[in-house]
Amino acid sequence: MAYYLFVTGGVLSSLGKGVASASIASLLEEQGLKVNIQKLDPYLNVDPGTMSPYQHGEVYVTEDGAETDLDLGHYERFINRNMTRKNNVTAGRVYYNVIRREREGAYLGSTVQVIPHITDEIKRLIKEAEEDCDVVIVEVGGTVGDIEGLPFLEAVRQLSMEVGREKVLFVHTTYVPFIRSTGELKTKPTQHSVKELRAIGIQPDVILCRSEMEIPEPIKEKIALFTNVRKSAVISAPDVEYIYEVPLHFKKQGLDRLVLEHFRLPYTPTKSKWEDIVNILKSAVGEVRVGLVGKYVSLKDSYKSVVEALTHGGIANGVRVKIEWIDAEDCREDMLEQVDGILVPGGFGERGIEGKMRALTYGREKRKPTLGICLGMQLMCVELARNLLGLKGSNSTEFEPNTPHPVIDIMEEQKGVKELGGTMRLGSYPCKILPGTKAQEIYKKELIHERHRHRYEFNNRYRELFERVGVVFSGLSPDGRLVELMELRDHPWYLGCQFHPEFKSKPFQPHPLFVSFISACL
Ligand code: GLN
Repeated sequence: MAYYLFVTGGVLSSLGKGVASASIASLLEEQGLKVNIQKLDPYLNVDPGTMSPYQHGEVYVTEDGAETDLDLGHYERFINRNMTRKNNVTAGRVYYNVIRREREGAYLGSTVQVIPHITDEIKRLIKEAEEDCDVVIVEVGGTVGDIEGLPFLEAVRQLSMEVGREKVLFVHTTYVPFIRSTGELKTKPTQHSVKELRAIGIQPDVILCRSEMEIPEPIKEKIALFTNVRKSAVISAPDVEYIYEVPLHFKKQGLDRLVLEHFRLPYTPTKSKWEDIVNILKSAVGEVRVGLVGKYVSLKDSYKSVVEALTHGGIANGVRVKIEWIDAEDCREDMLEQVDGILVPGGFGERGIEGKMRALTYGREKRKPTLGICLGMQLMCVELARNLLGLKGSNSTEFEPNTPHPVIDIMEEQKGVKELGGTMRLGSYPCKILPGTKAQEIYKKELIHERHRHRYEFNNRYRELFERVGVVFSGLSPDGRLVELMELRDHPWYLGCQFHPEFKSKPFQPHPLFVSFISACL
């Protein structure tokens, strides 16, 4: 049976519990343990796939095609394990399973209740993450005190009794605000949130204090006293420039040692691999500016993996990457003039597509490095059809069902799909790379696997026409039927991919497309 580390949150949301969980996981991995991380989300959607990015940030897609919370992206970037659909459990999924079983008559006449039926199902789903690992880190989404989070906290409390309190560690993340006018750090919100947690029957073992700055010793002492936690277990989590600094902050304060001691496992002093990454990031000379032309730019979390993948591309090239956020609806030439490269990411819906295409025209004509991802690639094709092939009124049927030139069209198997949740082309698919292309120069491979999330695709009726004007379809599905990669033969770097390379980029394994894109920008 595995050890469990539960991460809860207090005071307010957006404290970076996901990064904190991933950081602890990576430190434990450095101690030679096999670690898995699971996210529990208290909302009633079965998965975040149908949610707007404005609600919850990016939807992260796993190899097995699950649409999940963006924190799973952090988990994959920090540890050596691929996430699967088992790593994200929502209240919607839990209730769905229970209600389905009730309809099947599986509860044999009993009254179905939150305790024990919902909590039992939560515990069952948590235990599914235990397979092939020594420690499971379970991040409980939401904030202590939320009505909808209660069943999850109750379930983890029960689980801690079942597996044995010595095999469980509770980490509570709180916020310690700095009051500028008096120059003080305040501990009261932390005190209250721990009080709330203890009322549910959970005594935290570690308090992670998110704050603008390091928490000084006297404040740690005060928090320890009021929350009934050892002072050495009050850990400072100050704001950082790069999220990859977080594990180092934790390690410096002995958090990894503390966890292992709690579980009575041996601890070996090690140098963390994050030191190198942070050194590269901090010592980078020079900067490239990438214009990210999107529809959801006011909430940066909507493009979390893209942003991280660009950072990784920077690490590989030893430069800083500065992102210029360009609202697609307000995309002007003077904004594009100032950037070294243009990136049009994935997206849904019509808003902003004309602006994205203006950016693509600019990148093509001015010969700036241009990367189109998913919707970005689709719009590259529409832009070429309209402006280079003279196919007036060309569009994707997503935006104009009656367009005379549907260069992007709904996939055959998507026709008539009524239920929108979890029915796109999702997850990892193979792609064959055409020799002698930019794509092959970048990947240095003949067969790649990349993750998808879309309903539309390039319409093969137009392939020949495109090829005649210098478009190279450099990556296709192995049966040759689906366009996965396209590029312009006579452009220094203009490439579109139907898949999402950003989901597979890690700081230690930067994705080749992003490495090459940043190098071209340089
Ligand atoms: N909206 C497009 C489609 O469904 C692109 C999706 C995306 O960019 N992820 O095909």
